[in-house]
Amino acid sequence: MKVPQAGAVAAVIALALTASGCGAGGEDKGTLPIGIKFDQPGIGMRETGGTFTGFDVDVATYVAKELGYSPEQIEFKQVLSNDRELLLQYNEVEFVVASYSINEKRKEKVDFAGPYFVAHQDLLTRANDTSITKAEDLNSKTMCSVTGSTSAENLKKNLAPKAALLELGGYSDCIVALQEGRVDAMTTDNSILAGYAARKGNEGKFKLTGQSLSNENYGIGVKKGEKDLQRKINEALKKMVQDGSWEAAVKKNFGANYKYEPAPAITTGS
Ligand code: GLU
Repeated sequence: MKVPQAGAVAAVIALALTASGCGAGGEDKGTLPIGIKFDQPGIGMRETGGTFTGFDVDVATYVAKELGYSPEQIEFKQVLSNDRELLLQYNEVEFVVASYSINEKRKEKVDFAGPYFVAHQDLLTRANDTSITKAEDLNSKTMCSVTGSTSAENLKKNLAPKAALLELGGYSDCIVALQEGRVDAMTTDNSILAGYAARKGNEGKFKLTGQSLSNENYGIGVKKGEKDLQRKINEALKKMVQDGSWEAAVKKNFGANYKYEPAPAITTGS
């Protein structure tokens, strides 16, 4: 057996540390693992070829820059709605930027910076469907939403408790079910639904009902107790709004026709 030189061993250890994401937040500033959605056009999308697009991607990239990381140092990892708390608790990601609404239940497990965006729950139907115009119409319908989302919770508890609900892992699965006629409508934030409706190839196929069924304040999730990181992210978000980058990112990702709320005031941290 050959005995490797000390330098080679050190190099291997360094590589292993970087690969496991241990560089995040550390002194060496290696890679920064960030949790985003991979299947939500306009929000967090992994494009063919492996590039990333969307408002959350732009917010994450801006925040990373303010924390001292170049875009090349970011490692985007896919999170599903139902995984977000777990991935933070297990240090799989440094923070989560994934259409992640701040609420009390989630705050028991993670902390949030922000909010950085306000969306509203809405409904998406096939374009030729005139039978659904309001939430009560859903009680006799089959719906699709995503496990672990506020959208599914709100539908079951408040909006239409009698609706049949298909809960899937991601909204792109719901879009397929809607297109194939397996469900009558899907429900989640208008920001997400607008992205699918506008996606190339989907033009004219779907329509939003234009309901405002909830207020969803998007926050950046951090591990519980990471007060310093929370404070730094809040500073970055404020700067993003002040220097115009926030507005530019909204316009670029949601398109000219999307009616968005102005940037919300930061309410997290002390
Ligand atoms: N904003 C809602 C939530 O955090 C719905 C979108 C999502 O599931 O990512 O649950």
